[in-house]
Amino acid sequence: MNDRDVEDVQSLRAQFRAFLDSAPKPPGLRNYGPTPTADDVAPGRAWHRYLADNGYTCLHWPREFGGAAASVAYQAAFAEECARAGVPRQLNITGPDLVGPVLIKFGSPEQKDRFLGGIRIGDDVWTQLFSEPGAGSDLASLRTRAEHTATGWRIDGQKVWSSAAASADYGLLLARTGPDKHRGLSMFVVPMDTPGVTVRPLTQMDGESKFNEVFFDSAELSDDALIGEVGQGWTLAMVTLGRERLTLGSQAVAMFQLHERMVDAARDHGLLDPVLSRSMTRLWSRMWLLRYTWQRAIDSGDLTSSAFSVLKLMTSETDQHLGDMATEVLGTDACVDPADDELVHHMLVGRAQTILGGTSEIQRNILGERVLGLPKEPR
Ligand SMILES: Cc1cc2nc3c(=O)[nH]c(=O)nc-3n(C[C@H](O)[C@H](O)[C@H](O)COP(=O)(O)OP(=O)(O)OC[C@H]3O[C@@H](n4cnc5c(N)ncnc54)[C@H](O)[C@@H]3O)c2cc1C
Repeated sequence: MNDRDVEDVQSLRAQFRAFLDSAPKPPGLRNYGPTPTADDVAPGRAWHRYLADNGYTCLHWPREFGGAAASVAYQAAFAEECARAGVPRQLNITGPDLVGPVLIKFGSPEQKDRFLGGIRIGDDVWTQLFSEPGAGSDLASLRTRAEHTATGWRIDGQKVWSSAAASADYGLLLARTGPDKHRGLSMFVVPMDTPGVTVRPLTQMDGESKFNEVFFDSAELSDDALIGEVGQGWTLAMVTLGRERLTLGSQAVAMFQLHERMVDAARDHGLLDPVLSRSMTRLWSRMWLLRYTWQRAIDSGDLTSSAFSVLKLMTSETDQHLGDMATEVLGTDACVDPADDELVHHMLVGRAQTILGGTSEIQRNILGERVLGLPKEPR
């Protein structure tokens, strides 16, 4: 990135901040993260629509599909400013960040016409139907079947951890169409009101319900539900990964706000002795180092860089460390309803960070095998 680009990002950042500060916020809007609960959908949809009307959604999409063709650095600056303003940057992550790029690259002209507009303006909530009870880290071992019929496709099986499925209009489904582990997978669009599709919400330990189980009992999809070619599902699934990493970068900003809140809580509890102060300063320094390292990786513009595995690992573990330290500071005050205390809520939600988007163990495997060249683990 040259000096001109840095200047541009700085002025854009100021523009984002001014826009977000003066934007009218729909009643009930909160920064719910990448996934809305059922109660978040109405304010999230109205907010997304306002962002879309002002050209602030789907920043990474090409202009011909209503995007801004923005650089990675610009997208990261907008995500950071949204985190700072305490608002979501879009209705949910799945439609704009995961489904949009897949449809733009591999969808038929009819699929692009039918689905991209609804994603861009926030009319449609999408859910990602990949993980199964027996297939998470080893996603390609999934067993949900798609059988070709005279009229289209028949789906049988089960998915789990499907974020926002209970509120979703459509799902992006990865299903088995053949025996080969990777080449036997294909990708489909599922209207979530299809007969034979049942969604069962799961409640997390923070009391919110974002995850779901999704069951397919002979659910019939039309022929045009297939995205790309039969057997191309793994290639398409890989396109959806990587985009999630950008949102992790903006998480570093939210961490600073929580750190401040934790220092205040320690002061209120009369705990700010030299030992705790030193631990808090160390954590704060680590957060700054992470933030600068994210910035460098983002400025390089290479989303496939293995540096992102280090960053994913370090960001999620630092985030958990912050939650653990906050629990120590709060003591028995940590036993309140998470809805009443942002720190307690963050500590509980933080457990998910080392799992989503690839677990810490998997990141360490990637680093060991692909970056350090260590022997591959037995498979
Ligand atoms: C907040 C959140 C949102 C999510 N949203 C979605 C969604 O919308 N749609 C969707 O499809 N999925 C979603 N997921 C699921 C997520 O992709 C999986 O949880 C993740 O891939 C891990 O899979 P798993 O839970 O089956 O764990 P497993 O793969 O069963 O792993 C269990 C444990 O074994 C370890 N392990 C596994 N393999 C290895 C190995 N080879 N070497 C060393 N250790 C190993 C793991 O690190 C982990 O600690 C979400 C998860 C979270 C936490």
